[in-house]
Amino acid sequence: MLERRNQRLKLRVLLVHPSIGTDSAGGRACRTLAAEFADLNIETVTANAHEDARATIVSDAAIYAMMIDWSMPDDDGKERDNAAATSLIKTIRARNENVPIFLFIERDKARTLSVELVQDINELVWLLEDSATFVCGRVHAAMRKYTAALFGPLTTALSSFNQVHEYSWHTPGHTGGTAFLKHPAGRAFYDFYGEHVFRTDLSISVGELGSLLDHTGPIGDSEKYISRIFGSHRSYTVTNGSSTSNRIIFMACVGRDQVVMCDRNCHKSIEHGLTMTGGIPHYLVPSRNRYGLMGPIYPARFVEATVRKAVASNPLSKGLKDKQPVFVVVTNSTYDGLCYNTGRVLEEVGGWVDRVHFDEAWYGYGRFNPLYAGRMAMRGDASTHDPKGPTVFTTHSTHKLLAAFSQASYIHVRDGRSPVPHARFNESFMMHGSTSPFYPIMASNEIAATMMDGVGGIALTRESIDEAISFRQVVGRLHRDFAKKKTWFFRTWNAEKVKDPATGKRVAFEDASQELLATDPNCWVLHPGDGWHGFDDLEDGYCMLDPIKVSVLTPGVEDSGELGKSGFPATLLTAYLDACGIEVEKTSDFAVLFLFSIGITKAKWSTLITAMLDFKRDYDADKPLARVLPGLVASHPERYEGLGLRGLGDQMFAELKKGGQTAHLQKAFSDLPEVRISPADAYQELIRGRVERVALANLANRTVATSVVPYPPGIPMIMPGESAGAAKGPYIGYLKSLQSWDKAFPGFGHDTHGVEVEDGEYYVQCLLPR
Ligand SMILES: *Cc1c(COP(=O)(O)O)cnc(C)c1O
Repeated sequence: MLERRNQRLKLRVLLVHPSIGTDSAGGRACRTLAAEFADLNIETVTANAHEDARATIVSDAAIYAMMIDWSMPDDDGKERDNAAATSLIKTIRARNENVPIFLFIERDKARTLSVELVQDINELVWLLEDSATFVCGRVHAAMRKYTAALFGPLTTALSSFNQVHEYSWHTPGHTGGTAFLKHPAGRAFYDFYGEHVFRTDLSISVGELGSLLDHTGPIGDSEKYISRIFGSHRSYTVTNGSSTSNRIIFMACVGRDQVVMCDRNCHKSIEHGLTMTGGIPHYLVPSRNRYGLMGPIYPARFVEATVRKAVASNPLSKGLKDKQPVFVVVTNSTYDGLCYNTGRVLEEVGGWVDRVHFDEAWYGYGRFNPLYAGRMAMRGDASTHDPKGPTVFTTHSTHKLLAAFSQASYIHVRDGRSPVPHARFNESFMMHGSTSPFYPIMASNEIAATMMDGVGGIALTRESIDEAISFRQVVGRLHRDFAKKKTWFFRTWNAEKVKDPATGKRVAFEDASQELLATDPNCWVLHPGDGWHGFDDLEDGYCMLDPIKVSVLTPGVEDSGELGKSGFPATLLTAYLDACGIEVEKTSDFAVLFLFSIGITKAKWSTLITAMLDFKRDYDADKPLARVLPGLVASHPERYEGLGLRGLGDQMFAELKKGGQTAHLQKAFSDLPEVRISPADAYQELIRGRVERVALANLANRTVATSVVPYPPGIPMIMPGESAGAAKGPYIGYLKSLQSWDKAFPGFGHDTHGVEVEDGEYYVQCLLPR
């Protein structure tokens, strides 16, 4: 059956005039305009007061033109030098450089317009003199021009292709979705997603759109457009996540038996890079603080002489003729939101290693807010990149903290010494790419860039920074109020005091102005000597905490790093929040991580504050678990029946103290295990089946076949080909403490990659003894 579908973009105009809805000349003129717009199928949204207009401008991104009265009064009803209209125009332009603005003005008032303001608006309208048809026609034309330029090249091409309706004889076989319509389930699926996603799921046979593997046509133009916005020499769209982006870069840069400097705090895909290339790793060990949060790699670890010495004594590089590291990979920012002064890192390694890769999977927005200046791979203008400096790569998981579909990712490159020319790089790109990439993912990668372009990027990043700061300050004030009553509350991990450069005085974080916290990086830098961050001997300015990655701390850890008299681990808070329908990003021993992405809203974080307060009330009252965590008690009645929230917290805290879990973790992640064979060689053993499953009790001195990665901290503790160490050593010690915890607290078990759990026992894949 034929149905009416494919609604075009609905155009909407905002009309701001104090006389709207009144029986006056201005009111009648506005009504006439609205009627005329309706005839053009344009919806009119109205506001007759300044504040109302401002709220609409800030909240409704579907307005494609604004019409504002120059004589708008202020909120108190008085008109002062056109302040209300001026402020509305500034608000619009701070978020959007291009949306058309029309100003209603009386002829004799035109001289009150400043040159600056005239540049911000598109046209003047003499409301009582021009005809409605003429005015609306002008607005309509401006809207069409604006919407035509709204998208980047690929999205523009896809949306116009979408209007063509050709009959396709190529893959995908669902041909624009029609295959789904032949089955009730298919039909329901089609209706669920909506037709456009099917109609724009195309194949490389559609020549007009170009090809991802050849980087031609609108797809190639899209990569150039993304490159301009992200400040690279070249950018690539990847449709299988930064996991793939990292492997592409690795395989383009590293050959068999070449030495690679790898952040030990690395994503799994870096290990895959080592496995696939046969590169020989030299690990850069990051710092760790008392809350179990991983910090940066200190500059001393990058120093040439230190690295060369370590590489020379690395058993894996014995016999290698060439021990020159060819590649460095550093995770920036860390999962917990610590970002490097990348210039400082390049100063240490850029002179003697040719290719540097910053894995910025969680940090794609960094470039767009001045707060992060100098702390990302693509710093400043691409043209300023030193051709004699290192070639710099970065990867962004567009889907993580920008707005894109899952799997959308970018690779950005700046060529320096020893570049990998595009044609060579593309060999690796094609090896990992599909010949049938999903076009909506590519389009979403482009939209994420569009949204960050120009003032939009500043406004959107500032918004999430502001929300994160407000949240932190509310938690800080609650903590302070409760402390006055001699009782505990959560804290957020950030400076306790910040310096206001205007007065030179240090003020409590929760009393500092939003403007200061949102614009002065010094409020977030980990200064040496400051106690809050818990990292020793840091160089000033080297590392900064990203405000939008918010760690909420649970009580229990003393400033010395020892566990105090009382407290409870973060996993209890996570379980409680989960029962309230709040999902967290990550739970460490005493910290829960929340991401304030650009999708954040005030309502979302106020709900979180309420839940934290509820937790405190229920914890202090030792509320029965059957009431607060009913799911847990239902699954493990024998363990948890009759226990209260506080009772469980006490038991957990005691177990952490007894098991020495935190101390084991500290040791396990500050030293590297003994290396036996490379990750690539270990993998060869694995595929040949020369491995066996080994219980913890027998693990001493065995060589592991797959990496062992406990979450948290989500960092490889033992890499493939490394030894599990002595029975009483830190690695087995840590795994034992996790195993004992899992047995003691069913429902709170750890998820450790590389560990199989059977009847509560931990097993690890090891190489057969030689
Ligand atoms: C998530 C992540 C990746 C992988 O990104 P995907 O887009 O999920 O494939 C790579 N590196 C780091 C540091 C990550 O956190």
